[in-house]
Amino acid sequence: MKPAPFTHHRPDTVEDVLELLAELEEAELLAGNQSLGIVMANRLATPDHLIDLNGVDELAGIDVTDGVVRIGAMTRHRTLERSDRLASVLPMVPEAAEQIAGPSVRNQGTLGGSIGEADPAGNYPAALIALDGSLHLRSLEGRRDVPAEEYFIAYMFTELREDELIESVSIQTDPFPPERTGMAFLELKRAAQTWPTVSAATALRVDDPTAADPIVEDVRIALANAADVPLRVEDAEAVLEGEPMTESGLDEVAELVTAAVMPEGEMHADREYKENVAGEYARRSLETSYQRAVHTADGV
Ligand SMILES: Cc1cc2nc3c(=O)[nH]c(=O)nc-3n(C[C@H](O)[C@H](O)[C@H](O)COP(=O)(O)OP(=O)(O)OC[C@H]3O[C@@H](n4cnc5c(N)ncnc54)[C@H](O)[C@@H]3O)c2cc1C
Repeated sequence: MKPAPFTHHRPDTVEDVLELLAELEEAELLAGNQSLGIVMANRLATPDHLIDLNGVDELAGIDVTDGVVRIGAMTRHRTLERSDRLASVLPMVPEAAEQIAGPSVRNQGTLGGSIGEADPAGNYPAALIALDGSLHLRSLEGRRDVPAEEYFIAYMFTELREDELIESVSIQTDPFPPERTGMAFLELKRAAQTWPTVSAATALRVDDPTAADPIVEDVRIALANAADVPLRVEDAEAVLEGEPMTESGLDEVAELVTAAVMPEGEMHADREYKENVAGEYARRSLETSYQRAVHTADGV
């Protein structure tokens, strides 16, 4: 099937995008077109107008200043995957990016498109929640900031209004200083280049990585494709905080995560299987995060 007819608009500035968004009925933003094109080709969306963001250069880029990482909405997965700057301060982001689909999707797909799509299986929504990131939304009325944790409301339903666009995201680096932090993004895929069955995103800071048994000071755990929104499991985090990492602690975390998630069953993975994978992948991701936090101090 082909998409229904539409008018294509190609503004150069965010201001022009916002004016079009305010003025046009039934308009949709177009970013990397890796998801929207499929939806439109199947006539699950039939916008009258597409507002193409690909000419709006000010929406792309990575900036790290004063302990804040800011990433523009039109930054491609490939750019995030290959950013050495991000790898040194927030390695979860490149790790999440490199596991998205195959090279053709990563070359075109964007951070803003992934968040705009708001699929609970998406990599960045879970990563942003694990990193306590914020979304920066903009309309003609002005800008507003929404913590990632509050942005995703229900299945593919978000805080974003019809007259708004996602301008950028930001993440503070202070809570997770690289020298005492490990983080990981771990996904189970049924086949290469497909969406994940379940993913776990974890970030963890220890008190002293050179100690015999470093204490976990702060930890955040988020799951993708394990509920109708990306899910943070705070009671599992509380089990680990203030303690050294132990097998019994990780067992308890896995149990709590398994109990907390509410996944939809799929053709190749029923609900019970996904619940168990969520618990097990949270555990594995935490083990990796802890090892990375401790190894950071050795320079390994
Ligand atoms: C085969 C395949 C496998 C994939 N596997 C994964 C995976 O494992 N993990 C994963 O995370 N993703 C996966 N994806 C999705 C991929 O990440 C897409 O690129 C992404 O979800 C959409 O980004 P896009 O830039 O192409 O957005 P588009 O398709 O252009 O737009 C998607 C939606 O976002 C809206 N939008 C775009 N930009 C903005 C903005 N700045 N502000 C507000 N709304 C906006 C659009 O209006 C549209 O509704 C996969 C896609 C494919 C085709």
